[in-house]
Amino acid sequence: MKRVLLKLSGEALAGDKKTGFDEATCMGVARQVKQLVDDGIQVAVVTGGGNFWRGRTSETIDRVKADQIGMLATVMNCIYVSDIFRYAGMKTEVFTPFVCGAFTALFSKDAALAALEEGKVIFFAGGTGHPYFSTDTGAVLRAIEIEADAMLLAKAIDGIYDSDPKVNPSAKKYDEISIQEIIDKKLMAVDLTASIMCLENKMPMLVFGLNEENSIVETMTGTFSGTKVTV
Ligand code: UDP
Repeated sequence: MKRVLLKLSGEALAGDKKTGFDEATCMGVARQVKQLVDDGIQVAVVTGGGNFWRGRTSETIDRVKADQIGMLATVMNCIYVSDIFRYAGMKTEVFTPFVCGAFTALFSKDAALAALEEGKVIFFAGGTGHPYFSTDTGAVLRAIEIEADAMLLAKAIDGIYDSDPKVNPSAKKYDEISIQEIIDKKLMAVDLTASIMCLENKMPMLVFGLNEENSIVETMTGTFSGTKVTV
């Protein structure tokens, strides 16, 4: 794999704190991504926003407005994580699908690929720019657009299970599963829109736990212990 898109869930960024950022977790991500970049791999990053806000959980305000707040939460996450990456010695650029003043650059495929060629780690903040979508869907969309070889899905949980392991202690983790099976079994490891886009555009995924030691690097070097999603 030469070019990958790494999706970090917001919840995973918060570590044990559940909200906000856990600096040690983010530094751990930066150290691992630097290793990939030093090995010549092009890395694009999408962060979720669940450590700040999720549009669908608000019962009071309008869904469109709630989702706009969610998208802005992902912008804050990307600004934070990209600066941690800079601290760790990488060059970075944050793209958004809407104008954020001088904080970010406006996304285009050409600009994103040019930044990757310059050796930058690029961040896609703000999801798709539209409500009623998730950052998983935004991540798959961008992975397809930049012609990534695969999507690496770093989650607070270490793979895809046949049921929720927090609820069912005998839940079984899959080593490998097809995206069609995820859709048929309604496993919700990624949301349905994202799953269908992966299926239609043949984008494979590797799902693993962000909190597992060295999990991002291991995903790329073959000693992977998460779930491989085939297309
Ligand atoms: N969101 C949106 N459109 C997008 C991507 C995200 O409206 O294209 C909003 C939505 O409200 C979502 C929130 O941003 O709940 C945070 O994203 P998500 O829940 O996917 O974050 P994660 O669960 O990965 O941390």
